Amino acid sequence: MSDSHSIKLRDYQQGAVDAAISYFRHQHGSAVIVLPTGAGKSIVIAELARIARGKVLILTHVKELVAQNADKASLLTDDISVYSAGLNQKLSSGKVVVAGIQSAARNPQAFSQAFSLVIIDECHRVSDDDQSQYHQLLQQLRQHNPKLHLLGLTATPYRLGSGWIYKRHYHGRVGNLDAGIFDDCIFELPLRPLIKQGYLTPPRLLDGLSAQYDFSQLKPDNHGNYNAAEVDSLLDHSGRATSAIVTQLMQLAKSRRGVIIFAATVRHAQEIIALLPETAALITADTPGAERDTLIGKFKQQQLQFLVNVSVLTTGFDAPHVDLIAIMRPTASVGLFQQMVGRGLRLYEGKQDCLIIDYAANGFDLYSPQISQPRPTADTVPVQVVCPECGFANIFWGKTSNQGEILEHFGRRCQGLVARASKSQQCSYRFRARLCPDCGAENDIAARACVECHSQLVDPDKRLKEVLEQKHHHLFRVQQMQLVATTSGLTVEYIDLDGNHFNEHFRLTTAAQRKALCAVFLYPHDKTPGLPLPSFRNSEELLAHSTRWRSPDLLLLKKQGKHWVLLEKYFDYHGRYQTEQTYC
Ligand SMILES: [Zn+2]
Ligand SMILES: [Zn+2]
Repeated sequence: MSDSHSIKLRDYQQGAVDAAISYFRHQHGSAVIVLPTGAGKSIVIAELARIARGKVLILTHVKELVAQNADKASLLTDDISVYSAGLNQKLSSGKVVVAGIQSAARNPQAFSQAFSLVIIDECHRVSDDDQSQYHQLLQQLRQHNPKLHLLGLTATPYRLGSGWIYKRHYHGRVGNLDAGIFDDCIFELPLRPLIKQGYLTPPRLLDGLSAQYDFSQLKPDNHGNYNAAEVDSLLDHSGRATSAIVTQLMQLAKSRRGVIIFAATVRHAQEIIALLPETAALITADTPGAERDTLIGKFKQQQLQFLVNVSVLTTGFDAPHVDLIAIMRPTASVGLFQQMVGRGLRLYEGKQDCLIIDYAANGFDLYSPQISQPRPTADTVPVQVVCPECGFANIFWGKTSNQGEILEHFGRRCQGLVARASKSQQCSYRFRARLCPDCGAENDIAARACVECHSQLVDPDKRLKEVLEQKHHHLFRVQQMQLVATTSGLTVEYIDLDGNHFNEHFRLTTAAQRKALCAVFLYPHDKTPGLPLPSFRNSEELLAHSTRWRSPDLLLLKKQGKHWVLLEKYFDYHGRYQTEQTYC
């Protein structure tokens, strides 16, 4: 340990360091620390590297971060080696080794000493694939030290598509129990307190945009990515918007030092750069390394004012003077949005705020809590739903009224951790479930096999195909659903695209009939499952809550005698029968 170096850690940085020390003292697992962009992760890493006993390996995926981490670590420790082909250094003898994962994974023989701690920066990049470079290297390092400690740091602790990268969160929430390498999230700090305490520059979201792109018709894939060809074809008709946007941007930039523009595609970026003055440069994934370094260098020295990029400046890029961020690409990820914004929040002399302009109408709240699932539609926001079973306050995607009242949420299973037989497990409450026809167990709505009896849950399309091959069946595509009060009870009217009607009738005179309505209609149609159902004595009282019930996508009907009877309802249906016309 060296006394000649010292940096005063901020309170939360010390808090993160303490959490890691305490965790590794008591547990054998691997841990994650979540800090927003600009919170000074590299200082936390440097301090941990300083106090750790034994050799420490700091890994990350881009050379810019290798350089930053090595730089910060050298403030606290003398004995540092850097192993990165991109930085033309390949040394691994120091007490602290800062390495690029590609270089390290290609030369495992250079890491054959026993390390006591591995720290992975931007650890959301570690995939669950056990053939990945991170996995292979970790496997080898564990051969030299089976008790190797593993710590990850990130601002966005999830991968869209597979969810949280850790199994459990210290706030008593489950992450993703199938997560591959990280067990516990042990420390997390949101953005707001950092800004409040003056550690980051306040962001200012600009209203009054000259024009905006409308990407709302495009659907992201499960990983939250948009198809570049679809984005381009939409932008083909937005040339006028682009020129209005760039004109406004140049006007606003007159009082700004550094402007970063996030473009949607390479073609889009080229269109933007053609409209900007000579003090602008473009960086894409194909820009050669040396040219990229030169351009970034000029931008940092403020010889260039505008830097247009396509998905390259989200991590490892650090230019504190940036005070205008223009987002022109769609994203379904809150985390990615916050990362883009984060590029402008570093402190810099004379910088009062950072202007954020969301030209892509992503509409995320800058301070929004992160959700590991991609946002289902552009009009959804994070909502808090308390579990009726364990009381855990879940955060799900949902819709609210102007007053903030929850109108709908898309949560499926409670994320609370509950103690059961001295172990903590995920709460079993499901807000939405699919019942197993064989054993009655509740399953996730997308499950393929039953969690209890492992029997195959029938794929709705397969079932529909079989049934529709039989006579007297009809698939009713619901376009509209309305509730109508009748003298004896309630009628639910369904109307399809062609104006056909199908009705369901419920009598509501006795308590048993009202109970039956709950089971058959209210629960499956509830847009806000888990919230208490309204009490009602008759259909008029129920109609006061008519917006609470969602419409199914499909009804499977069968003809019996002269009448059609309802066999099944399909909610959240995204299969092939949605648009295809199939009549029998
Ligand atoms: Zn619960
Ligand atoms: Zn079952």
